[in-house]
Parts: sequence; structure tokens; C-alpha cells
Amino acid sequence: MTDEQLLRYSRHILLDALGIEGQQKILDAHALVVGAGGLGSPAALYLATAGVGRLTLVDDDTVDLTNLQRQILHTEARVGMAKAESGRQALAAINPAVDVVPLQKRLAGDELDTLVASADVVLDCTDNFATRHAINRACVHHRKPLVSGAAIRFDGQISVYDLAHDDAPCYHCLFPEAEDVEETRCAVMGVFAPLTGIVGSSQAAEALKLLAGIGESLSGRLLMLDALSMTWRNVRFRRDPACAVCGPNSAVRSGEYLRRPAAHPADAAPVCRTTRTAPAN
Ligand SMILES: [Zn+2]
Repeated sequence: MTDEQLLRYSRHILLDALGIEGQQKILDAHALVVGAGGLGSPAALYLATAGVGRLTLVDDDTVDLTNLQRQILHTEARVGMAKAESGRQALAAINPAVDVVPLQKRLAGDELDTLVASADVVLDCTDNFATRHAINRACVHHRKPLVSGAAIRFDGQISVYDLAHDDAPCYHCLFPEAEDVEETRCAVMGVFAPLTGIVGSSQAAEALKLLAGIGESLSGRLLMLDALSMTWRNVRFRRDPACAVCGPNSAVRSGEYLRRPAAHPADAAPVCRTTRTAPAN
């Protein structure tokens, strides 16, 4: 670490649990952030200020005036610009040492697989189930930790699927893809601006802890926030031994999962997940 790095990250280094060793792990890490919207904005900002070595920021959308209420990576001057590039500019302005790789596309198939394989942690900041399940399959296959967040209206959810561990549940264990779930469009339902900040920042916290190897992650716990009453709930859940994705009979552990048909139509409208009651144990 250079003198400038020691100074820049001194308030991290001062933390007994983190120290120079933990900060060095963050500096050496590659974080994949899928989605540069309400959740991806604060998540990417904190990963960049904390000095994560490489940050791949993926979003197929462009900045729109209605995004600015909550998507704090973007500015009015960058309306119309690709969100990934707008995000790169915001992150470079704060910490130019971070290698930000902007990708304007909807990740799928081999490309998603390759990126997940090269990442040390994956942050799901997307707004539709099909992409969430595709990211989960790739993370299960490559045994990469997945930090998942969701926010709609005043309801937020955060969890970690620490898939390097055999007994850790995956996203599909909690939210089975085949289940008839309701998807609700953000544009119709609305979302409270600071809620996305709280959830996205929590995702950054979990990602940095995983990278530094400190603390206890949210693996096996779903944190749910009702921002209207500012009430948090902590629901424990276990791995589903019959899970179609991470279970023993799943092809996802092998390379077969890539041969599945595309999980979503290319023109699918962006949607947000609604908060559901998670299975308690
Ligand atoms: Zn599973």
C-alpha cells in the first residue's frame, strides 16, 4: 500500500476487525455490480470509496429524469447517457484508482458466466426475477458469494447467499423460480428514495465484509425493512435440500446450466419484486 492509500483508507485501517490486511483484500478484489439504478448507485459508490480494486458495473439502460429521485450515481447533466458510463464517471470522480469497467448490456448466458467466474463478490441490484435467477445460477455454479437486495414502495429486503459453503442456501431456495410470484413495475408502484439508499448501502456493507473476510454475513437470513414504520425483521431460512438450482440433482453445479433457454424475453419491461413473507423455520 502506498502512503496515499494508507491515508485515504486510514479510517478503515483503524478498525481492529478490518486493519491493513482487510483493506488490502478489498484493494485486491473484483466486485461485479449488476444494475446501476437505485440499489446499484449507493452500493457502487461505497465499494469505490472503500477502494475495491476492480468494479464491473453492468446496466443496459440510459439515465432518465425519473431516475434522479433515487439513483444517486447519475446527474441531470447525464440524462440520456448509458447508466454504466454515467456510473463510471461518478465513481472515477470520487476514487480514480478504482478500475471501473462499465458494460451497457443485459447480462446473460456465457457473458454472465464469465463475469461471475472472474468476480470475488456479486451484487444483485437488478429489478426483475429472470435476471436474479440467472445471476443466482451462475453464482451457484462458480460458488461465488451473492449479495442480493430489493426495494419497492416502502419495503426493502437484503440477504447474502454465501455459495462457497455447501450448507448455504441459494436465492432459489428462498424464492423458487417456478412459483407463481407477482412482479410489480417500479414505475407503477413507486419507491421511497432513501429506501434504495439503505438497501444498496447494506449490500455494500455485506460485500465489503465478505471481501475482507470479517464479521458474520447475512447468509441464511433475510433482512426485511418496512421504512414506513422503520421496522426491521430478521427471518432465518435454510438451504432447500431439493432445490432445483443448488440441490444434489441440479445441473447447475455442472456446466449444463448454460444450455438452458434464455430466461427472459429481451424486451421484458423492468419490474421490481414485491415483498413476500419468507418461509420461516
Ligand atoms: Zn438453492
